[in-house]
Amino acid sequence: MAGDSRASANAAAVLRAVLEHGPVARSGIPPVCGLSPAAVSRQTTGLLRSGLLRELPGPGGGLGRPLVPLDLNTGAVSGPVTAALHIGVPASTFGLVDLRGQVLARRSLPHHGLDTATLPQAIARRLRAFLDEYDTGRPLLGLGAALGGWVRPDEGTVVRHEALGWRDRPLAAELSDALGLPVRLDNHARAVAGAEILFGHPDARHSLVHLFVGNVVDAAFGIGGTVHQGPGAAAGDVAHLPVPGSRTPCPCGRTGCLQATASDTALGAEAVRRGIVPEPSVGLLVDAAATGDPRADRLLRERARDVGRAAALLLDVFNPAVLVIAELSSLLHEGYLNEIREAAVGAAPEPIPTTPTPPAPAPAPAPAPAPAPAPAPAPALRIVTPHAGPAVLPCAAATVLLGPLFRDPARLT
Ligand SMILES: [Zn+2]
Repeated sequence: MAGDSRASANAAAVLRAVLEHGPVARSGIPPVCGLSPAAVSRQTTGLLRSGLLRELPGPGGGLGRPLVPLDLNTGAVSGPVTAALHIGVPASTFGLVDLRGQVLARRSLPHHGLDTATLPQAIARRLRAFLDEYDTGRPLLGLGAALGGWVRPDEGTVVRHEALGWRDRPLAAELSDALGLPVRLDNHARAVAGAEILFGHPDARHSLVHLFVGNVVDAAFGIGGTVHQGPGAAAGDVAHLPVPGSRTPCPCGRTGCLQATASDTALGAEAVRRGIVPEPSVGLLVDAAATGDPRADRLLRERARDVGRAAALLLDVFNPAVLVIAELSSLLHEGYLNEIREAAVGAAPEPIPTTPTPPAPAPAPAPAPAPAPAPAPAPALRIVTPHAGPAVLPCAAATVLLGPLFRDPARLT
């Protein structure tokens, strides 16, 4: 077993080195993953055979073909793909995603009129049709699924999802039975954090906090390249974090809780109350602001400032290298991101200045290294939107499956 686990750790180190540096010649891999040329050669042979790596056209060479560039297999014919599913409250999102986290196709399924008790089966039928439509014969690794609420990835269950009325639901098994695919499940805030660590800004591997603001508001944090789950995978519930200055009543009995103040549900209801949009849709509100309605713009800026004040608390508590905020208006228009940044930094105490990291010594880094943090940028600039932009949800959902694959490539092949 010790030999097996060393081999999987080595395979993972090579796969991650190619993710980060590819296309890269075989001879360029040992210095960046800390393995011997012989070990790299053994692992690349296995990863080529399993279809996760491919050779690109390039200079030939002798034994071991050291100069032939290798890359993750994102080839249009043989590159493996992952099905992705985000289950939101008003709609689900489907995606097809390659090994670099690129979303090749996506589609939305509104939940109008669907019963939440049988929603997984309805979703599975439509997702199967979507996958059949985009089937080009590329190997399908399985389904990564993400949703709000308390999710246990190890059991594949949704312990509690208030808005959908789910308790102790064996969702991974239900989806797997209906689709005939391996399924992995996680909370969507952790899924976005995982996607930033695997595919996003290198600083995210050092430390990050992610705040998800949708109909559900939750958070996740990662350190040293690992997303924290906590006992029972219950970490990340920030629904009742107090937003300074908010007096909005919350069902919990207090006032000023983050979810009651700043969720899409709260925002949509307020937009209808002010007569800006006919139905409680944040998408419609963002469209109204984009076409010049000053009332829509004002309401979105109010929400951005509430999100910014919550972000200030998270910056203060965790001091992460990166604070990722997934929120619709700031994802689409930088002005709202700047509003969040200004509210966050205006409300945050003065940061402790970080000393510049001394130059790294020459020896090769350990496998899957967390990069040494550069001098921290100003707190406002550490607040970013997800790297995948509007494709954040399918990219994150796919990472629920791809994250374990990059940690142990032998598990899924
Ligand atoms: Zn509350």
